[in-house]
Amino acid sequence: MTAHPGSQAAYQLLKHTARQTLASTPYTGPLWLLDPALVRQQYLALQQALPRARIHYAVKANPHPAILHTLLALGSDFEIASEQELDSLLELGVDAARILYSNPIKARRAIRYAYQHGVRWFASDSVEETLKIAAEAPDATQYLRLEVDNNSSDYPLGTKFGLAIAEVPALLAQAQLHGVDIGGVHFHVGSQCRDPAAWLRAIDTVWPVMTLLREQGFRPRLLNLGGGFPITYDKQAPDIASIGAALMPRLAQLPADCEVVVEPGRYMSGPAGLFICEVINVQHKHGKRWVYADAGMFSGLYELMDGFHYPLELNGGAAGPSGQAILAGPTCDSCDVLSEAMPLPDTLQEGDLLWFYHSGVYTQNLVTTFNGMPAPRVVVCQPGGATAAS
Ligand SMILES: *Cc1c(COP(=O)(O)O)cnc(C)c1O
Repeated sequence: MTAHPGSQAAYQLLKHTARQTLASTPYTGPLWLLDPALVRQQYLALQQALPRARIHYAVKANPHPAILHTLLALGSDFEIASEQELDSLLELGVDAARILYSNPIKARRAIRYAYQHGVRWFASDSVEETLKIAAEAPDATQYLRLEVDNNSSDYPLGTKFGLAIAEVPALLAQAQLHGVDIGGVHFHVGSQCRDPAAWLRAIDTVWPVMTLLREQGFRPRLLNLGGGFPITYDKQAPDIASIGAALMPRLAQLPADCEVVVEPGRYMSGPAGLFICEVINVQHKHGKRWVYADAGMFSGLYELMDGFHYPLELNGGAAGPSGQAILAGPTCDSCDVLSEAMPLPDTLQEGDLLWFYHSGVYTQNLVTTFNGMPAPRVVVCQPGGATAAS
């Protein structure tokens, strides 16, 4: 078991900044603290674990400029899903030719826009998408998003995306007809994948397509392993060093001219976030303890509903003995129930603050102000311990 994030040295700046922020201004609503140093730590550990792979950060995970800026300074590349994500990278001076547009479902106008701005690598998982890209981005390279097993992941993505291997020949026939450069393959094992062997199985699934591409006269040179690298929630997850140790021998067998890419999202920005919200009501109904917070699914805590339980502290200290409770958000919508069975401190009462660690991903950018609930205030940690609001 790894120690609770709140007790680890790397998280002390986050903790210090949270304490300082709460001491200097009275609590008036949810807070989100972000420490770019933790993004840096994640990046360096991944680079060390998988030296064979180029890192393309999945911008959708958390597009906060402090994160993008930190990664750019480290030499990271990026993966995008939309025109707006592209714009945020171009503003920072990212070279568009190095960006991967990996969302396999794109509006024609989005393809055109990206192409006009210099993007040259686009994912496809259907004949239809391949023809759209061929029309709007004529000399661009396409890579095929293939269907792989998502059963080892806590958040599978498999049914919405991915071309079945059996469908590949038909797509290649069309690609040949239209002179499309199919430059490689791509998969995603599903988010928060806790079994390193899932990537190995996926490589075995997609490698025959690389061979087929070569046989048919294409120039396959990209093997994109996607995202899915896990972080610590309440269930045990392997660390990045052990995932690297499992993958490196397999990657070492690949031809030297095959470029290997990873697209981490959750892994990269998750640990950098600390979300703080307040308990506004504790009551017992129908024999169950209900805990209502001043933040809920509409404040960006959607993933609690998928069973991702963030490591919790109570008022910035140990949570103490905890029994199960129902955790719900503050809005008038009955679906705003975050967890039907979450371990929450027995002593919990109105006014307590819940500190959720590892909440820097798939949160901040999902916020709405439904019901007039204010968006959480974002505070970025500064190296010296000062704070900057943004
Ligand atoms: C969301 C996404 C990622 C990042 O996934 P994580 O599970 O957060 O690492 C990477 N690639 C693509 C194409 C994605 O859609």
